[in-house]
Amino acid sequence: MFGRVLIANRGEIALRIIRACRELGIEPICVFSEADRDGPWLKHADEAVCIGPGPAKESYLRIDRIISAAEITNVDAIHPGYGFLSENAHFAEVCRDCQIEFIGPSPEAMAQLGDKIAAKRLAKQVGLPTFPGSDGALEDPEEAMKVAREIGFPVIVKAAAGGGGRGMRIARNEESLRLGLESARQEAAAAFGNGAVYIEKFLEKARHLEIQVLGDKHGNAVHLYERDCTSQRRHQKLIEEAPAPNIDPAKRDQVANAAASLIRAAKYSGAATVEFLMDRGADFHMLEVNTRVQVEHPVTELVTGVDIVKEMIRVAAGEKLPFKQSDVRLKGHAIECRINAEDPDRNFMPQAGRIETFAAPGGPGIRLDSHARSGYRIPPNYDSMIGKLIAFGPDRTSAIARLRQALREFEIGPVKTTIPLHQRLLETAHFVNADFDIHYVERFLKGE
Ligand code: ADP
Repeated sequence: MFGRVLIANRGEIALRIIRACRELGIEPICVFSEADRDGPWLKHADEAVCIGPGPAKESYLRIDRIISAAEITNVDAIHPGYGFLSENAHFAEVCRDCQIEFIGPSPEAMAQLGDKIAAKRLAKQVGLPTFPGSDGALEDPEEAMKVAREIGFPVIVKAAAGGGGRGMRIARNEESLRLGLESARQEAAAAFGNGAVYIEKFLEKARHLEIQVLGDKHGNAVHLYERDCTSQRRHQKLIEEAPAPNIDPAKRDQVANAAASLIRAAKYSGAATVEFLMDRGADFHMLEVNTRVQVEHPVTELVTGVDIVKEMIRVAAGEKLPFKQSDVRLKGHAIECRINAEDPDRNFMPQAGRIETFAAPGGPGIRLDSHARSGYRIPPNYDSMIGKLIAFGPDRTSAIARLRQALREFEIGPVKTTIPLHQRLLETAHFVNADFDIHYVERFLKGE
C-alpha cells in the first residue's frame, strides 16, 4: 500500500479522500491555492503545499506545480478527486512518466472512454444501448441532415470532447441543425481544442440514470448498481438517489452487467460511471462515461456497503477487487442533496463570504460530507457546492422522512444555500412518487 498520497483537489472531496487515507494508514498530503489558505480540511493533512493564486488556472489546474508539490513531499500517488485535472489524460500520463501512481485509469483507458464517440463505439460492441444517431464525427452538413431525417427531429448536436454541458445544441428542424452544427463545432474547438461533433436523437422526457463500476488492474470489473440523478437544474444535478425508484430490475441488471463489460473491455482500473438517459418506454441510452469518482458516490456506498474511495486507492496500488459481482447486494435506500452556496431566490447567484452559523444535522441514517463550518469564508473562485447531505433508510419513504428532518435541522447563515429549495422539492408529488423527468425542477421553479 502507498505510504503517502497527494490530493490534487479541495473542499469536501479533499476531506473525503483524507478520511479514506487515514483508514488505510496512508499519510494524506494536500495542495492548496492562496484562496484556500484557511481551508478547514487542510489541518487534517500531514502536509499542505501552496501551489499558486486563487484562480484554478493558476493553481489546481497547473500540472507542473502539482507534480513539484508531489516531488517535494515524496508521495507515492496522486488522487485527483473530481473536476480540475481528474479527467485529463495528459496529467495521468505525466504522473506515470514521473513514476507517481495516478489514482484512476491509465491515460489510454481514460482517453478512450473520455472521448464520447470512441466510448459509444466500444459500448455498442459490448451490447450497451446507445442513442440512435451518427456513428462517428460528422464532416459535412449534408451527412448530418441525412442522419437527422433517418432518426427524426429533434436531434442534439454534441461535441466528442464535450463536458459541463458545453458544445451541445438542440435542433428541431434542418435550419437549426445547420446553425447548431457550426456553432457547436466552434464552441467545442475553442473550449476543448477538438471540434469533432456528432448527432443523436434528443429525448424530450427522460430520467437520468447511471451505473457505478469499479475495475482493477487484473481484468476484473464489478458494478455497484445504479443511481438516479433526474433532479437537475440546467444539467446540474441537485438530488441523487440509489437505487433508482420505479425501474425494471431485470432491464437494470442487464444494463449494469453490460456497463461492467465496457469497463473490462477498456482495460480500465478505478472508479467509472456510465451515464444513461431512460426514455418513457423504460429503455436506456448511454450518454457518456465519467472516468473519475462522482460527487454523488456516497449514495452508492450507503446501499452497497462498498467504500468507493478506498477501493480506488487499493486498486491503484495493484490490489485485486476484494469482491465478486455476486457479492454485491443492495440494502436500503439513500438520497443525497447537494448543498450549494447559491441564492435560489436570486437566480441561484453564487454566494461568497463568511459562514457565521453552521449547525449540522444528525440522527439515524444521516451522513454529512462537508468541509464547511462556522467561521469558514467561502472563496469566490470555485464551485458553489459546500457539502452533501445524505440520508439512508430501510426504504425510500423512510430515507425521505430522515432527509426532510435533517434539512429542517441544518442551519447555515447568513450565506444563502439551496437547503430551502431541497425542502420544497422533497414535498413535490413528482419527487415523492418518482414521477419525474430531467426538466421537472425547472418547471417547478417556473411555477408550472
Ligand atoms: P456533458 O459531458 O457536457 O455533461 P452529457 O452527454 O452528459 O454532456 O449530457 C449532459 C446533459 O444534456 C444530460 O444530462 C441531458 O440532460 C442532456 N442531454 C444530452 N444528450 C441528450 C439527448 N440525446 N437527449 C436529451 N437530453 C440530452
